[in-house]
Amino acid sequence: MEIIRIPHIVHDTSNGHLLHGRSIGFVPTMGALHEGHLSLIKRSKDENDITIVSIFVNPLQFGQSEDFNKYPGDIEGDAEKLRKEEVDILFAPDKSLLYPEGFLTRVEVGKLSEKLCGAFRTGHFKGVTTIVAKLFNIVKPTRAYFGQKDFQQAVIIKKMVKDLDMPIDIVVCPTIREHDGLAMSSRNLYLNEEERKAAAVIYRCLVQTSEMIKSGIISKEKTRRFMKEKLLAEPLVREIQYASIYDPETLEEVEAADKEALLAVAVKVGGTRLIDNMLVKA
Ligand code: AMP
Repeated sequence: MEIIRIPHIVHDTSNGHLLHGRSIGFVPTMGALHEGHLSLIKRSKDENDITIVSIFVNPLQFGQSEDFNKYPGDIEGDAEKLRKEEVDILFAPDKSLLYPEGFLTRVEVGKLSEKLCGAFRTGHFKGVTTIVAKLFNIVKPTRAYFGQKDFQQAVIIKKMVKDLDMPIDIVVCPTIREHDGLAMSSRNLYLNEEERKAAAVIYRCLVQTSEMIKSGIISKEKTRRFMKEKLLAEPLVREIQYASIYDPETLEEVEAADKEALLAVAVKVGGTRLIDNMLVKA
């Protein structure tokens, strides 16, 4: 595996592969890699000639009071995992090469970025779309892989690619979970033992709510009440930021889950913000 830190070297390498007719799969990450990330990488390996993974903790997508400075990082451990997966290139750019002094441009996908997590993390998705657009321009992928775990992010990236005519297939892969259903996340490392156990309530809530909807109870009010009750039954759930049913394309809250709906949750367990979601059909 080649480790490249300089954007234009990745760009030239990708151009070379594309000229030879090779497809490029790309998996952007912020590191602290777990099985969720690796599932995206395996899919990219299956579907492309070359797989490029990036590791970059993007300051632009963190709010002032968020965890940028303590975000978990282990570049050596991550590189080892990527070697085992036989990734072709690890792109681990230096911050100053991506955001040199005087960097001004932002890429923003309007309305969709204000819903759900966007309402609680001002500017977050603008940071995400700006870095992903830059990485796409550098890596020039044929396909790029994202997790359903960050459902809103995937919807926004798909919209950006469509609106900006980027010739890239966005592939959304299923959420990989721990044995008790908790969605794998680098931020799970912040949880202490008790909080880690308590966090399983999120997946239980999603499963029970989807069963309720499948049994025919589909109104927004009932769904919201049910989810709130389930989540607050766990005392370490400190705050529910949202928990309801949404249209999976517009991300608007829907009155009833009468066609395919997105169940989505954001809560704080102890001091850690966790998100999860599930698609459900009544
Ligand atoms: P991150 O490093 O958290 O920015 O995540 C990088 C990519 O991995 C994103 O596309 C995430 O949606 C995806 N991802 C994170 N956790 C999981 C998971 N548990 N299952 C599947 N994909 C995931």
